[in-house]
Amino acid sequence: MGEKRVTGLGISEGIALGKVLIYKSFAAQKTRKFITELEVKAESERLKAAKERIISELEELIAKTEKTLGTEKAGILKGQKSFLDDPAFYPEIEKLILERNYSAEAAVQEVVEKFAEIFAGMDSDYMRERAQDIRDVGRRLLVQLTGEKPFQLTEINEEIILAAEDLTPSETVQLNKKFVLGIIGKIGGKTSHTAILARSLGIPAVLGLGEGFLELKDGDYIILDGSNGLVIINPEEKTLEEYREKVAIEQERNQNLKEIIILPAITRDGKRVEVAANIGTPEEADLALNQGAEGIGLYRTEFLFMSKKEMPSEEEQFKDYRQVAEVMGDKPVIIRTLDIGGDKELPYLNLPQERNPFLGYRAIRIGLEQKELLKIQLRAILRASAYGNLKVMLPMISSLEEFRKVKMIFEEIKDELKALDISFNPKIELGIMIEVPSAALLAPAFAQEVDFFSIGTNDLVQYCLAVDRMNEKVAFLYDHFHPAVLRLIKMVADAAKAAEKWVGMCGGMAGDPLATPLLVGLGLKELSMEAGKIGKIKQIIRKLDARDCQKLAEEVLKLPTTQEVREKLLEYSKANIL
Ligand code: PEP
Ligand code: MG
Repeated sequence: MGEKRVTGLGISEGIALGKVLIYKSFAAQKTRKFITELEVKAESERLKAAKERIISELEELIAKTEKTLGTEKAGILKGQKSFLDDPAFYPEIEKLILERNYSAEAAVQEVVEKFAEIFAGMDSDYMRERAQDIRDVGRRLLVQLTGEKPFQLTEINEEIILAAEDLTPSETVQLNKKFVLGIIGKIGGKTSHTAILARSLGIPAVLGLGEGFLELKDGDYIILDGSNGLVIINPEEKTLEEYREKVAIEQERNQNLKEIIILPAITRDGKRVEVAANIGTPEEADLALNQGAEGIGLYRTEFLFMSKKEMPSEEEQFKDYRQVAEVMGDKPVIIRTLDIGGDKELPYLNLPQERNPFLGYRAIRIGLEQKELLKIQLRAILRASAYGNLKVMLPMISSLEEFRKVKMIFEEIKDELKALDISFNPKIELGIMIEVPSAALLAPAFAQEVDFFSIGTNDLVQYCLAVDRMNEKVAFLYDHFHPAVLRLIKMVADAAKAAEKWVGMCGGMAGDPLATPLLVGLGLKELSMEAGKIGKIKQIIRKLDARDCQKLAEEVLKLPTTQEVREKLLEYSKANIL
């Protein structure tokens, strides 16, 4: 039988060879959401039988636990059992089946998630921990209903390539890199959260396989080529040979990078550049540290808001921000206030449909209209600032007036906290993202008032060049090496330098190896990127001479076309880095 090739999106670089393990998460197991009217009675009996089996299972487990581990541990299980007697919980599941024709599995999932979120949003630690308990009860119910023991990702103890229709971010962070050699997904795009996590973990991945996913079977031997979005099922000997060679080269390269990850990024002539990570969840902070991050240059808080069905409370936000602050210790963590709108939706905010969402009601514009939302977030960040080295960053600022309004609110909240004797870092810095050309053009004025700048090239490029960053049709026009973009970056860097303010970059350009000499030459103090790229960028910086880079920047800034800029940088890389 010959080999078979299927293609998807190569979203995390690297090659993996191994056996496939098909993983079905509960979300994927939910095959049917609704049942017919005729099935309702049998469905509610099925649920009841499952509940009774769990009660006896839990009773047995409680007795055993009391003997072996003591009453405290048994108490946790007793608590789980009591959920099943709670008049608010089980009847609500039943109601969804009886009144809204939900399947038992779908009803369990819906109610469990609703309760878990209520618990997760409560003030006391004790109540918040109950969220995990209720999810556990839900898991037990689903095991009984589906008759399948759900396989836990943490149970993986041999080398495999994990194939799943879809993985949630919380499932992805459970993966043990020692055993999970690669990830394959039926759905998911380059910017999906799983994709970002896979890259942070440094696990090669191909997502968006679509129907090609169905070609995979448990135990198939495959090659996963994350750089080219390719999966080769049952490869022929010739192909295997070819890939084993590639793996050997890659391993040598990774070994070199591992040694570099722990070193600071200092140029040959002694100029230090901070290499930091962009993260979207608190869990990623640990991953970032492992990849050599010297700080968090961008914490995109919108993922916390997008993972909830309603606005996360101040407490919920505080908990996440504090966790990142504590994990990172003295290292700086830049928390960006909510950047929603554009391509990012938040159903519970009921944002209007817009003709040009990227030019509309987005980011700080929402914060300044829905002030309570902004205030709650700023208060949560300020409180968390007592636990580490936090800074606040505002997205999509386009005028000084906007910055001044936020600054006033920020100062008011500080006063309130002071009056209440709640601790925070009084010297916490407030900076802005430069992602709108007007802010870049006004950088000298901004530099008098803000504490720092971070250049967001993902948006700066789209606004400067009038190219929608999501539109494939005009993607060829989207390029951070466009001379007009470079001039804006230079203006910001020069303005920061003149005012002795700090300037970094957190857009995609910061992680582009071709851009590194130019960015060092322009005098950026920090480059923040997906954690998986840190080693490579540190390696490049350590080969550079900052004064030479400065000369390069001067020459590059004179070039009139994108192509000439690229050619010049490529030539420089070939001569100085490779
Ligand atoms: C940017 O615009 O460059 C940026 C980092 O922000 P985001 O990608 O979240 O819009
Ligand atoms: Mg942006």
